[in-house]
Amino acid sequence: MSTSSPLLTDSARTDIAQRAYVLDTQAELASTVLPMLAHHDLLRTGLPVAQGGHGGDVRDAIAAIAEVASLSLTTAFVFWSQRAFIHYLQASGNEAARERCWDALLRGEIAGAVGLSNVIKFLSRIEALQVQAKPQAQGWSLDGVLPWVSNVRSQGFVVAAAVQPEGGGLPMVMALESGLPGLVRSPDLDLLGMRASNTAALQLNQVAVPAHALLAQAGPPYLKAARPGFLGMQCALSIGLARAALQAAAQGGGARGPLHGRVVEAQTLLSQIEAELLDGVLGDRWVADVSPLFALRMRLAGLVQQALQLELQATGGRAYLQDQQPDFGRRWRESAFIPIVTPSLTQLEGELAQHAAQVSA
Ligand SMILES: Cc1cc2nc3c(=O)[nH]c(=O)nc-3n(C[C@H](O)[C@H](O)[C@H](O)COP(=O)(O)OP(=O)(O)OC[C@H]3O[C@@H](n4cnc5c(N)ncnc54)[C@H](O)[C@@H]3O)c2cc1C
Repeated sequence: MSTSSPLLTDSARTDIAQRAYVLDTQAELASTVLPMLAHHDLLRTGLPVAQGGHGGDVRDAIAAIAEVASLSLTTAFVFWSQRAFIHYLQASGNEAARERCWDALLRGEIAGAVGLSNVIKFLSRIEALQVQAKPQAQGWSLDGVLPWVSNVRSQGFVVAAAVQPEGGGLPMVMALESGLPGLVRSPDLDLLGMRASNTAALQLNQVAVPAHALLAQAGPPYLKAARPGFLGMQCALSIGLARAALQAAAQGGGARGPLHGRVVEAQTLLSQIEAELLDGVLGDRWVADVSPLFALRMRLAGLVQQALQLELQATGGRAYLQDQQPDFGRRWRESAFIPIVTPSLTQLEGELAQHAAQVSA
């Protein structure tokens, strides 16, 4: 982990915190989120200096995303989307794809998005792949849909998506750039919260994709190798949100009474889980066996729910007063995202139960 990489400056913290409510409840400022992250120079966190980054590794990105998530989950999710796309570019052997958009991604001039829920569910045998690829002379022609993708800015994006080759075979992973004829972005989805996350559906109608768009011919091993970093950065969303709710609970009046012990216990547990995550996320251990990371993700999701309950109970009736405690209401809505983002808790429960059955067989 880098010691030189910048933590959030006061000015970044203020900017992010001030916009948190409006980014959660309205889409109007959606176009400002990525430029704000770039302005505060956060997109280079945990990337090699030789490639324009601030140095360090994915653990620095986890720490930074968690800190942003403690202020605004919408901003942190946009940060995650950008960083997760960059993570997949790093893992790809396709240098041409990397060179094409690397600098623009680090400057926040193009938005990076990951439309990989479908393939993650596909690999858990939950659903079929929803994009089909027909080979063509210079690449492929794609048809299908990505029903949920965030950080698809109308100003320009590139999205990682998995596609099913015609006639069968392993799914491939491609980087699809906005502007390709036949790639149609829906209007923003009408979300409960995180409304400025630029979340939309993408329809693909005979989209001609060039060969340089291919990130991995064999999707499953590629996704598996990148999974610890991808999920680790996703866990940072829960860490930041739980941290903020527990801090608010500790400051609330009720925390002086019987809740105090539970708040301290939850804070200790959160620090332990964060340390376990940072300890395991590098190296091959969780590439070979991802179940400990799945278990951490589940524990963190449970901790987020617990932290919100503690904040609510420590704040009491004031939590219900929008004009006095808007941050609580925002966090309450933000927390609804944690169990359903892929891999969802339901999916992980199934995966871990299967893993336990295999181990004991
Ligand atoms: C604000 C927001 C932003 C998003 N951004 C993105 C994005 O950028 N990229 C992206 O790819 N996706 C994104 N998603 C999608 C998200 O990651 C989940 O895939 C989606 O919310 C869950 O899919 P679903 O609604 O189709 O669940 P369903 O498929 O309807 O399933 C419902 C629940 O049951 C579980 N489930 C279904 N079948 C099984 C089974 N057989 N075994 C175990 N569990 C099962 C699912 O995991 C889910 O929890 C976003 C979602 C939201 C709400």
